Amino acid sequence: MSASPGKPAVCLLASEVAPLSKTGGLADVAGALAKYLHAGGHDVRLFTPLYASIDRAALGARPVAGLTDVPLVLGQQRYEFSVLGATLPGAAVPVYLIDCPALYARASLYTADPDEHLRFIAFTRAALTACQQTGFRPDILHCNDWHTAFAPLYLRTGLGRDGVFAATRTVLTIHNIGYQGIFPAAEVADLALPPADAYLLHQADLAAGRINALRHGILYADAITTVSPTHAHEICTPEYGMGLEADLRARGAALSGILNGVDYDEWDPRRDRFLPVHYGPQRLAGKAELKRRFLARTRLTTAPEVPLAGIVSRLAAQKGIELMFEALPKVLAARPLAVAALGSGEAKYEQFFAGLVSAFPGRVSFEAGYDEAQSHWIEAASDLFLMPSRYEPCGLNQMYSLRYGTVPVVRRTGGLADSVEHYDAASGRGTGVVFNDFDGPALEWALDTALDLNAQPAQWAQLQRNGMSQDFSWERRTGEYVALYRRLSGA
Ligand code: ADP
Repeated sequence: MSASPGKPAVCLLASEVAPLSKTGGLADVAGALAKYLHAGGHDVRLFTPLYASIDRAALGARPVAGLTDVPLVLGQQRYEFSVLGATLPGAAVPVYLIDCPALYARASLYTADPDEHLRFIAFTRAALTACQQTGFRPDILHCNDWHTAFAPLYLRTGLGRDGVFAATRTVLTIHNIGYQGIFPAAEVADLALPPADAYLLHQADLAAGRINALRHGILYADAITTVSPTHAHEICTPEYGMGLEADLRARGAALSGILNGVDYDEWDPRRDRFLPVHYGPQRLAGKAELKRRFLARTRLTTAPEVPLAGIVSRLAAQKGIELMFEALPKVLAARPLAVAALGSGEAKYEQFFAGLVSAFPGRVSFEAGYDEAQSHWIEAASDLFLMPSRYEPCGLNQMYSLRYGTVPVVRRTGGLADSVEHYDAASGRGTGVVFNDFDGPALEWALDTALDLNAQPAQWAQLQRNGMSQDFSWERRTGEYVALYRRLSGA
């Protein structure tokens, strides 16, 4: 039974949470979903590891009674963890930080260390222990990605028969199916499963010598979501399912897609805290002013009228940077265009952008790294925004771009397909330029189409207005999660 009728109590497990820790979209979703559930009157409690990069003193984090130096044995390993309570900055959401320096005091959130699976099995177990110890009876246990995907399995064991979890239903959200948390079967003892529950493990994987964390979440969660309706269909196919398509298809209607929302407190050109000038659909002069200042800041020497294409991305194969290898030099050579890129990742992509800067002096800027302020500047100053992703579960920057009057040029996949509509000049409908094929010529076509539209001021203004009037707010998306929670819990 939930404390408030119609408002299921939610235990949210996330390996990263904005603004405490972030490498990608999961952090934004966890932070925003918690914030809006809390604002809607739900008892939502967020659990996340206390990484070395999180400033516990600034958060005012305090030990939770009965949860100091709790022993945890996983296979041959013995850990001690403590739980610190705080509230999420900018929201009053209770957040529980799992403190275990042996596991989380590393140089980055995620590692390639041999105990990576143990870091997140320990996190999951510690969070479940914290619910028991504090008497928190969640109606919904919402886990995210491979890191916490063993939680539904644990609730099928004796742990799940504990009073606090007796009525708990589980949701797994897949933010990125490309990361599955695979580790050797020889390390099965690290799960600390009672022998009687070992049958719950995926036997074919075990026989093949591996354990796949995400697969167990798919097998045992009461509901599975991914972060866009199109991606929910895509991951049931071999092209996008990354080997998990058969398990996903087998879950049938338990799988659905809920598009991520945008935190417009952070991402709105009318009040963006990173920008010295603000603008909105009625005051686009501010955008032109920001572009002028941005060109100067980044030492781009193109005239302000020359279209500027922005890129903010992890530089990984998923993001379709290969297509830019072919298309960008061609289009830059053929027509007036400037490019501002920000991103870090694989060396070959960083080298490509560095090479583009040298090949087109004064027309291309590239910052290798992660830079929040610069990402806001690029959104505001650019005319177009490029996301030619190979796959994109949801994607956030295309939705930010719409709000900033920056026309997204995207491939028709996942959340890009669900949030950007190809512009039709005849009817004046649509919000961006959308291409289908994952190849260089398709991106080149899309860039040419966008630049042709940009040369027609009335069409461009219509396209910008259409995008700026879209609403991808979390208020709306949270309602979809609440509807799912209610269906599952009967609350
Ligand atoms: P993914 O989670 O696959 O990286 P999303 O589009 O869902 O992709 O989320 C990416 C988030 O990370 C966005 O908020 C984006 O602005 C931000 N981001 C990505 N790379 C950088 C960077 N180099 N600097 C600043 N922000 C970045």
